[in-house]
Amino acid sequence: MTRFLHCRIRHLTRYRVRTFFLLVSRIRKFYDLRFRRFASGTGVPERVGELFAEAVQLSQTQHLKPDMALGIIHADLRRSVGETNEFPQRFFCDVGLGGLARWLRGAGYESVWKPNLDDATVIRETQRLEATLITTDSLMMERGVLRDGNVPWVWVPSSLTCEEQLIIVLRELALPIREPRCMSCGGSLYQVDKEIVADRIPPRTALWLDEYFECGECHQIFWRGTHWKRITEELTRLRNVSLSLS
Ligand SMILES: [Zn+2]
Repeated sequence: MTRFLHCRIRHLTRYRVRTFFLLVSRIRKFYDLRFRRFASGTGVPERVGELFAEAVQLSQTQHLKPDMALGIIHADLRRSVGETNEFPQRFFCDVGLGGLARWLRGAGYESVWKPNLDDATVIRETQRLEATLITTDSLMMERGVLRDGNVPWVWVPSSLTCEEQLIIVLRELALPIREPRCMSCGGSLYQVDKEIVADRIPPRTALWLDEYFECGECHQIFWRGTHWKRITEELTRLRNVSLSLS
């Protein structure tokens, strides 16, 4: 039995290592294609190697994952040529980006996340909502409407945490932190009288807080308690990180 388990673990480990390298190579391949495209635009092919070298240096000096450093270099490249200047500040988050969608709502941006949609529907919904698509899918990026820039997009590596992905999005689109939206559904928050929602507030909270907000969509009640403050502090920290990396 022990031997069986040992073999099983070894098999799983081998599988994960293979998957990891597959993932890494897919991510590197995406950035390689993008860097080549920029380099051919400037007529300086050796720029591709320089950009990868800059990413390695950034990764070492700032202690970032290599994929994160590539994401930052790529974000700066897009910003430097104004590629993301006119992108809508409303987002459609692809499958796998539910956590990022919640953080974006907390940062004050409308962000829709509907898992289990096929690629064509995701693109159609992004267009219908006049949103910017955020995706981790490099196959999706090969579709003409995205490759040719007809649908605004931000690509984030799936190997990053949602906080790291948020740093890339904030940097790529130069987004400030706004007043929060409902993190559950993305609805706007409206101030409500304490008396009206008194029966929906924990009695201990009601003793020390007078300001309450209601989501216009799902009608959840919010207040600036410790949870709200922790999220605000974390968003401010992530925004500062997104500005400081160089
Ligand atoms: Zn809501």
